Amino acid sequence: MSAALPRPAIDAVLALLRPDLQAFAGYSSARSAALNGEVWLNANELAWANPADAAGTSRRYPEPQPSGLRAALADLYEVAPEQVLVGRGSDEAIDLLVRAFCRPGIDAVLATPPVFGMYAVSARLQGAPLLEVPLIETEAGLMVDIDAVIRSARDNAARLVFLCSPSNPAGSEIALADVVRTAQALQGQAVVVVDEAYIEFSSQASAATLLTGHDNVAVLRTLSKAHALAAARVGTLLAAAPLIAALRRCQAPYPVPTPCAELALAALQPAALAQTRARVAEVCQQRSALAQSLAALPGVRRVYPSAGNYLLVRFDDAQAAFEALLAAGVVVRDQRAAPQLYDALRISIGSADDNQRVLAALSARSAAA
Ligand SMILES: *Cc1c(COP(=O)(O)O)cnc(C)c1O
Repeated sequence: MSAALPRPAIDAVLALLRPDLQAFAGYSSARSAALNGEVWLNANELAWANPADAAGTSRRYPEPQPSGLRAALADLYEVAPEQVLVGRGSDEAIDLLVRAFCRPGIDAVLATPPVFGMYAVSARLQGAPLLEVPLIETEAGLMVDIDAVIRSARDNAARLVFLCSPSNPAGSEIALADVVRTAQALQGQAVVVVDEAYIEFSSQASAATLLTGHDNVAVLRTLSKAHALAAARVGTLLAAAPLIAALRRCQAPYPVPTPCAELALAALQPAALAQTRARVAEVCQQRSALAQSLAALPGVRRVYPSAGNYLLVRFDDAQAAFEALLAAGVVVRDQRAAPQLYDALRISIGSADDNQRVLAALSARSAAA
């Protein structure tokens, strides 16, 4: 697929890598050398499995990119295996992108607060300037201002633009046409990274469908949310094959532990996937029910439309709401320190029982008030 892209486009996006990394070969692990043999004595592994490792699958270093898992993820996300980089959660991919593309003090990272905090954290760790283009309050919700993103990215040497869709915590989405417009405007200057950690809960198509025509688009996906495997730490970056190959050279030698790869692969078998999809549908149903009930409560200022598995809710008294929930044993995410969200909490969609408990705690409070 990406191999069919005209060469100049690919060269243009590879040229965006840090110049000092362009010819970087990375670590050459024992596992990556193309050798064949029967007795493997090249990686200082022990000849026997650990007694705790009943299946004996953890004795040797894993494949740097487990091929079965990579193929299954490529199938799931409808791209070629060469367009897939598997890492320790999408958090690792975010960090890898920032390190590979941004020269400290020079190449900026653009984010759209209030938004997931890791873009800013990775930028800070790399010493990359951070550009912030605030979401704007509209009838439809807290939305990305695409024109402002393009303007700021152009004026301030952005090298990476993070678009979170569905947005955490705002719940809003970015139309694929706007992703395309951003990518085209920043062609030859920046990579547009669409973080789709919650896309399974949305009815919009994935930006992965844009990879073929747009070499400076990259997409983040994860098994942590809809697939209920947060502890396995399996996240994926989807991008043009040459870009994935370049980023692989910057990644840790064995980023995917074998037990995690096995769990993830099992989760991608048809029966497990069918159950995941049923759960996702249930969450979406619960989401609209909870949104409706919350909006009807006194003391609730606004429930934002959400395409994720959470609701962003503004309260007359967010402190009291937070405390009432805590007193009922329910922990939600306090968003009040985030820009524009001085009165807001983010509530993950739980089971029907969990959500009832949220409503009960908040109704009891408004009855008492
Ligand atoms: C949860 C979350 C992630 C982190 O995903 P991992 O794969 O668990 O690292 C990435 N992006 C957003 C927007 C998230 O909310």
